[in-house]
Amino acid sequence: MTLKKALSHARGILAEHDIEDAPLEAELLLRHALKIDRTQLYLDLDRELSPQPEEIFWQLVERRLGGEPTAYITGRREFYGLDFYVDPHTLIPRPESELLMETALKLDKDHPLSTIADIGTGCGAIAISLALELPGVKIYATDISAAALEVASINCQKHGVADRVHLLQGDMLEPLPELVDLIIANLPYVRQAELAPTSFEPLIALDGGADGTESIAKLCRQAQSKLSARGNLLLEIGQGQGVVVTTLLHGLFPNGEIEVVPDLGSIERMVSLNLSKDKVAG
Ligand code: GLN
Repeated sequence: MTLKKALSHARGILAEHDIEDAPLEAELLLRHALKIDRTQLYLDLDRELSPQPEEIFWQLVERRLGGEPTAYITGRREFYGLDFYVDPHTLIPRPESELLMETALKLDKDHPLSTIADIGTGCGAIAISLALELPGVKIYATDISAAALEVASINCQKHGVADRVHLLQGDMLEPLPELVDLIIANLPYVRQAELAPTSFEPLIALDGGADGTESIAKLCRQAQSKLSARGNLLLEIGQGQGVVVTTLLHGLFPNGEIEVVPDLGSIERMVSLNLSKDKVAG
């Protein structure tokens, strides 16, 4: 069987099993079995797939059909155009979270930031992407999970930012040694009742408590004592959580400017708090 045949066969099987992005995932699995990059795969499409890699490939497809995410099978996931190592100790970065990145970069353009904290950093995708985009900014990345921080550390080395991204273990903002200009966080926000029983991802990264906003609420309260005077907070949220989170923030930061921002699919995806736009009294 040629690589091209194997690829189209796998695509068909994955699609039949309702795997979301069957063409991409088939390609990633084949590349992983053959240990080749995208260019090499496309150059070799008419070559015969030899028996050993073929056996490995179909085993990978089997694992995918068993529900295991491709990112855990291959140990990698792309975020903001960068390749990250991931394992089951960390959430798999989602494209929706690029909205947090883009907003942070816009904020820096308007008012240059000196310090940023990425809370619940997981594999470090947001902190590291920011470190590469904003070389002058000091970045803290915290996580309560030591295992997640080990993954983040591998990614910091991989992307050459280990000296600029300060990894701290602890409960959200507690380990921060100074006030920061921007707090950015993709915390767990799935409602407990909606957690998939067979999720391969760590529960600690998904479980947002009864209404999904427990961790977010805790972070908002902690932010009162950790944001600089003109600071910003960017929070990824789940569908339908905009009102709860903005109401809470209005109570905690009565003078801050608060906004709910939808993602490309028009789903409420982020809440931003901006203290630099303090409403002037009177
Ligand atoms: N976006 C993820 C999901 O819907 C949830 C991520 C999170 O809780 N931060 O599964």
